[in-house]
Amino acid sequence: MPSFQQQLKTVERWQRFPARERGDAPGRAVLTFDDGPDPDVTPALLDALEAEGVRATFFLLGEQMMRVPSLAGEIRRRGHEVALHGYEHVEHDQLWPGQTRDDLARGLGTLQASTGISPRWYRPPYGLLSEASFKACSDLGFEPVYWSAWGCDWETVSAERIAELVERDLAEGEIVLLHDSARYAPREDATPTVEAIPSIAARARERGIALVTLSEAVGER
Ligand SMILES: [Zn+2]
Repeated sequence: MPSFQQQLKTVERWQRFPARERGDAPGRAVLTFDDGPDPDVTPALLDALEAEGVRATFFLLGEQMMRVPSLAGEIRRRGHEVALHGYEHVEHDQLWPGQTRDDLARGLGTLQASTGISPRWYRPPYGLLSEASFKACSDLGFEPVYWSAWGCDWETVSAERIAELVERDLAEGEIVLLHDSARYAPREDATPTVEAIPSIAARARERGIALVTLSEAVGER
């Protein structure tokens, strides 16, 4: 789990820079996957989601897209929503305003080149917006997004633990933070996140909750 200091910083930032934390469509919740696309994990995740009939929203990084240019388009073709997590995985409160703006614009350009679309959503790395990233977000036409639940899957935890944490909070309106890459996390392998999908999907069905994309969980623009 993040340190107490980190959690305090996050709470303070979320109050200062408000962004979407929950969906509002009845009977729906959202699984979101940050830090990909990752050739080691994302293809297996797409198969797991398809097997369960789950659609999700992927917050992609420009530098990850550059490694495997076809994967972002593949995510979209498989029925999911693509969104932006930035070009690099940076802390915007540690950057100059111009660097922040460049990161978002470069990430957007990469995403447009890979998928042909301009995404609706932006989620800042670590959930930390700054004055500059909040403004760049609105200048570039993004709506910022945080989350309301998580699987703690940046840590080295089992698939069972990820599923347990997500299922504890899985209810209408939840936006669940998960990761389909271990590249920016303490853990070395993101496979447990993929392995947690069948259990999470089964629990959602039991509770009558449809797992859909973020845009589907908040209605159209
Ligand atoms: Zn991230």
